[in-house]
Amino acid sequence: MNILFVASEIFPYAKSGGLADVAYSLPLELRKENIGVYTVMPLYNQVDRKKFSIIYSGLSFDYYLNGIRHQFDIFCKEDSQNEFFIYNPILCDRLGLYDDEYGDFGDNGLRFGLFSYAVIELMLRKKLKIDVIHINDWQTSLLALLAKTKYHLSQKIVLTIHNLAYQGVFPKSLMNELELDWDACFKFSGIEYYDNVNYLKAGINFSDKVTTVSETYANEIQTSAFGKDLDDVLRSNAYKLSGIVNGISSEVFNPKTDKFLYEQFSLESYEKKYINKKKLIENLNLEDSNRPIFIFIGRFTSQKGVDLLLESINLIRSYEANFIFLGSGEEFYTKAFDSIKGRYKNIHIEIGYNEEFSRKLYAAADFLLMPSTFEPCGLNQMISMQYGVLPLVCETGGLRDTVSDFTNIDDIDNFNSGIGISFFEHNLFWFNHALAKALSLYSNKPKFEKISKHNMGVDNSWTNSIKKYIEIYKG
Ligand code: ADP
Repeated sequence: MNILFVASEIFPYAKSGGLADVAYSLPLELRKENIGVYTVMPLYNQVDRKKFSIIYSGLSFDYYLNGIRHQFDIFCKEDSQNEFFIYNPILCDRLGLYDDEYGDFGDNGLRFGLFSYAVIELMLRKKLKIDVIHINDWQTSLLALLAKTKYHLSQKIVLTIHNLAYQGVFPKSLMNELELDWDACFKFSGIEYYDNVNYLKAGINFSDKVTTVSETYANEIQTSAFGKDLDDVLRSNAYKLSGIVNGISSEVFNPKTDKFLYEQFSLESYEKKYINKKKLIENLNLEDSNRPIFIFIGRFTSQKGVDLLLESINLIRSYEANFIFLGSGEEFYTKAFDSIKGRYKNIHIEIGYNEEFSRKLYAAADFLLMPSTFEPCGLNQMISMQYGVLPLVCETGGLRDTVSDFTNIDDIDNFNSGIGISFFEHNLFWFNHALAKALSLYSNKPKFEKISKHNMGVDNSWTNSIKKYIEIYKG
């Protein structure tokens, strides 16, 4: 079986969030199961062609849309014929992937519409033998509509929704620019959305199967509370919708081999985790390495519950614990965190995206804060477990499926999934309650260490989920 895996970002070439991690690790794991996987992504300016040995494949083609010529050049890895990159100036010549400091680029509908056309053209012109086209999120969703209404492809189309909050909503004038057939597109309201077009809606309607990244999120998005105005579309497509939890790569996130750590460690050398803790505390000028460390790593956006973090600053600044927040994102939150920077001895704030620092944090931390308002799957909580961290989470989406509250578990030795602290109602009272529970647990060092070690052994790999994806591809 051969899969064409299409994504707008793939680690390590370009990454803005969890999608890139999944688009890296899922194809890798599928290949281990003898599934042929071709990957395709845009060759953005920021992708380092030299570092990653990306070369011109010899294929270029023009495609005319509404009388305008669009030129595409296909690149590939020097040492493999199954990773493709598409270059087109409108799609790729930007400083960011989807936006920059001035906001959304304004022509993302055209950019990713062109990308969808180019992926199909690449498959046809390279004569790739493909059984399933696996698309991801709104950026690649138009491909489903093109496949069904314009190219009439025989391949099965599988769409994975990594985050329903981002849908790709654009003015309907785009239909002309992309030469889309109004009748075919608007029949059954396939792409129409309040007199605009909605790429993700088209992806849901025109794909053969739709998956999302945890079972709980698959249920949540069919309700008006989490459905982001697409819950009715999802409910009517419920027969083809399922939830498959993401895995993480044990090669990338492994404290035994992670080169970014001060000191590598494993279950057998658990005490070395404390070296990481001590060094980090020293380097950041924080207080007392016997205190617990709470970390937050993620995008500064309301989804990640950063409002709760900001609202609790007045309380946590007097806790006998250290807090480290690493993130970047919306200007409002970035400014708010910036204004707190350097004010309190036990709170360290780092604004930006920093892979190396994030690994040092995972290695040193005792608790990971993840008070998300909603969370399709979440990778941080799974990554942190590998480094012996206890996630403190709001019980939603993938967080609910991967973390259980320690007070609900009688027999840790016979429990297979992650353990931490969880709260259900998303408000300051219950978040603070969860923080207090964490501090109290930490004061019982033997119990805390037992859970920390348990989490290091939890299987957050792709093993089970890969089987489910293969069933979807075959079914
Ligand atoms: P998202 O909703 O952003 O996709 P996920 O939890 O699915 O959230 O994935 C986030 C990924 O990005 C994780 O690998 C996490 O460690 C990483 N990450 C997020 N923000 C930062 C940052 N500021 N610096 C380093 N890594 C980050």
